[in-house]
Amino acid sequence: METLDLTVLGCWAPYPRAGGACSGYLIRSGETSVLVEAGHGTFGRLSGIMNFRNLAAVVISHYHPDHSADLSCVRHAIGGAIRDGSRKELLPVYAPDEPSDEYGRLASYREAFTVHPVDQLPFIDGHRGVRIGSLDLSFLPTRHNLPCYALSLASEGKRIVYTADSALFPDLVDFSRGADLLVAEASGYHSDWEYLHRNHLTGRLAGELARDADVGRLVLTHLWPEYDVGRISDEAAAFYGGRLEAAEEHKTYQI
Ligand SMILES: [Zn+2]
Ligand SMILES: [Zn+2]
Repeated sequence: METLDLTVLGCWAPYPRAGGACSGYLIRSGETSVLVEAGHGTFGRLSGIMNFRNLAAVVISHYHPDHSADLSCVRHAIGGAIRDGSRKELLPVYAPDEPSDEYGRLASYREAFTVHPVDQLPFIDGHRGVRIGSLDLSFLPTRHNLPCYALSLASEGKRIVYTADSALFPDLVDFSRGADLLVAEASGYHSDWEYLHRNHLTGRLAGELARDADVGRLVLTHLWPEYDVGRISDEAAAFYGGRLEAAEEHKTYQI
């Protein structure tokens, strides 16, 4: 049976701690490697782990720069590899088609990417989805101040759900239900709720989501660099009694 791995390339938002990186996760299942998010500083981290020429696809949840800034690095690296013959195919990128100026810029990188708007993927079991190598991806539109998608990645009965940026809402609970690993944003303390709740989860809300969705394990991410990560974890743990930790850069979580 193949393993399903998630390696944290970066976990800070909306700017990194010194020496850190913003949102980026490398998902590996057998021979299939998918980069989920390309926030600031993530491409260098990716290159330290694998040959970027072997990426099967990139997924971008939305166009806030802490999730997408390093797409320009990926573009130049893949474009160069195609020119020098060290990679043959364009790299598939799955991303929202809104805002249209952001999508248009991404779609113009034709020397490197084939861009697939998530909203044009076929429905599979009620959600937009695509199979990439041995991974089944499905998407859920979230509640955020830009069009944004949560992501489910499944392989051989194992499943990771990543919330991307989102308020808590019932469909997100259903989408996350029974995941072996839930990677949930936890952008602040619950005392920030008034400021965050329309667009983001707090540690407590991530804990409530993990509890209500009955997931096997919770990793908190999208962390405000100035905050005490231990306090955010404690706020989540007050609502979720399962295995829980804050994301650590470079760490691999194996399902
Ligand atoms: Zn965002
Ligand atoms: Zn963000």
